Formats: sequence, C-alpha cells, structure tokens
Amino acid sequence: MLRLRFIGLSATLVAATLSTTAQAQTAAPPPYATTKVEGTDNVYIFRFGGHQSMFIVTKDGVIATDPISERRPAAKTYIEEIQKITKAPIKYVIYSHSHYDHIAGGKPFKDLGATFIAHKNAKARIVALKPDDVVVPDQVVDNKKVIKLGGAEVRAYSFGRGHTGDDTMVYFPDTKVVMVSDQITDNAPLVDFANGGSAVGWAPILDGVLKLDFEMAIPGRGEPKTRADVEAYRTKFATVVTRASDAIKAGATRDTLASQVKTDDIGWNFNAQFYGSLYDELTKK
Ligand SMILES: [Zn+2]
Repeated sequence: MLRLRFIGLSATLVAATLSTTAQAQTAAPPPYATTKVEGTDNVYIFRFGGHQSMFIVTKDGVIATDPISERRPAAKTYIEEIQKITKAPIKYVIYSHSHYDHIAGGKPFKDLGATFIAHKNAKARIVALKPDDVVVPDQVVDNKKVIKLGGAEVRAYSFGRGHTGDDTMVYFPDTKVVMVSDQITDNAPLVDFANGGSAVGWAPILDGVLKLDFEMAIPGRGEPKTRADVEAYRTKFATVVTRASDAIKAGATRDTLASQVKTDDIGWNFNAQFYGSLYDELTKK
C-alpha cells in the first residue's frame, strides 16, 4: 500500500502567525501542500485549496498535471514547490479535462517552455471558446499517449466519455499511481452533459482504469482512493444507471424518472436536471 508523506510546510502555518489586525487587512494565503507518494522517490501530489495535481521528477525534467490556477496564483506556488525539489526543467503539463478550475493559469509553465498536452476534444473546446488564461494544448491525446522522459514513463489514456467528453487518465506505471481527476470524487458523480459528459460511459472509463496496475488513484479533489474505492464507485454509479434504465423500461418518463430511481441505499443524491439528461441519454436513438 502506498502512503503519503508531507514534505512541504503548509501555508496555514504562515497564516496562523499573522496578527488579528493583519488578518483583517490581508486575506490569509490559501493553504497548499506538496506530498510525496511514499514508496516512490519521484512522484508528488501538489494541492492548492481543494484542488490537486501530480508531478513526476526525472533527471531530465518534470512532467506535471493541471495548473489548478483559475483566478488565483496556484501555478506560481506549484512551480516554486517543484523547484524546491529539482532544478530540472518542467517539460510537460498534461490537462486532466477541460474544466477551467483544473486547467486555467498555466502561463507560468508555458513561459518556462513546457509542452502542454490534452485530450483532442479538450483542445477543440479550448480553441473554440478561447477562454482567458487557459494555455492552448500543443499536443493531443486520442486513445493513448506515452511520454518518456529521463528514464520514467507517463501514460495518458482516454477511455471514453464520463465526467466530460475529454477526460484523460494520467497513469504513472513505475509507481502504480493514476490521476483520475473528477472521474472520482468524495461525493456523487457530476456529469457535465453539456460538454460531452456521459453517465452511461462513466463506468467503462473506470473499467479502463481498473485494467491498469495501480495501487492509488488520485482525484482532482478529495482523498486518495484505493483500488477497492474505485471498484465501489464504479459499481455504485453503474447501479444508478441500470436502475434508471429499468425504470424507463417500466414506463418512467423524463419528468417522473427522478422519483422512480432509488439511491438512498447508495448514499448519493442527484438533482432533477441530472435525471432529465440521464433520461435523454438512455432514450437517445
Ligand atoms: Zn471537472
């Protein structure tokens, strides 16, 4: 079992030393932490606020995931944390999916010469929408992309549509860790149907993840997950989708589906909008 060990000082310690007056005048710095995945000597998790990313350090450079810097200076801190560990260049930044809370603010990485990689649908969305403060990917992932650097390997996989239409699972095979971003959360799945997300496709993505040899799955927010956690999450959501499908076969309509699907035993609640979109997905010809 892999474990996490804190190696960085949390900014909350700094905040705690501020005087009451100073706190009233200056917003406390947001807490961040860099943790090393125990059992490895080169894979780290960087957390800023509630979001987290991963990076691997090799002798020839660093491969990092999401800048997590929407409307905040997380990328600057992220780079400083990396540079406390290595002076090797940051060579790659891989986007987990196209949601801005994960991928905005990558410019400081671009300024250092990093190559940006994302799912091909994420790049298409970014190019079309031209969001402020999102670096356009240089390279794309279709089904699988292998990045080799300094004797290490990172594999970026697309296993289909789930949280969005452009989720990339970033796998670190040498250390048996996989970054699953918002494909796993501490709560119910959030399907961004408007951006290509799919409730039906969600479990197959986790099936793809479960085929990988991993011991720890890192979400974009929340606690690290074991293989058993991933299996349980997959089963729970597949059960919701199966129950919805059965309810529709038994006559549930778009308006009544929410009241026809039991989820209290699963511990998740979904809103009416979710059930409407799920109905549309399950009845699409
Ligand atoms: Zn997301």
